[in-house]
Amino acid sequence: MTSLEEFLNESKFATCISCIDGRVHLPLIQFIKTTYQIDFVDLITEPGADLVMGTRDPEKLPSIKGKVKLSMERHNSQLIILAGHGDCAANPVSADAHLGHLRRGMECLRGWELDADIVGLYVSDGDWTVDEFAVITRT
Ligand SMILES: [Zn+2]
Repeated sequence: MTSLEEFLNESKFATCISCIDGRVHLPLIQFIKTTYQIDFVDLITEPGADLVMGTRDPEKLPSIKGKVKLSMERHNSQLIILAGHGDCAANPVSADAHLGHLRRGMECLRGWELDADIVGLYVSDGDWTVDEFAVITRT
C-alpha cells in the first residue's frame, strides 16, 4: 500500500514510441514533460515509428508491445505517446500522410486495451515544434 506522501513524491513516467531520429527526442521530451506534468519519458524508438504502428508491422509490433508493457509495469506509466515527424528517412511522406499513420497507430494502441491514455504527437521538420494531434482517454 502506497501512502499519499509516497504517491505524491513518486516520479511520473510516460512512454513514448518514436522514430530513432536524433532531432526529435529533445523537443518531444520537453513537450511531454511540460504539457502532461511528466518527470521522465521512457523512449521506445523504431525507424518510422508512426508507419510501423499505423500499418501494424507484424515483425516489429510484439517487441514494441513488450517494451510498452515493461514501462507501464515497472515505471507505472499511464500515458502512451505515439510520435511522427517530418523529413523522416524511414517514412518519407507528407505531413497529412503522417497524421493518417498516427491516427491508425493510435487505433492499434487502443486495441491493446492497456490502462493508459494515448496521445499522438507530430513534430514539424525545420523548426521541430511539437503539436498534439489527438488524445484517446482511458474509458
Ligand atoms: Zn524518422
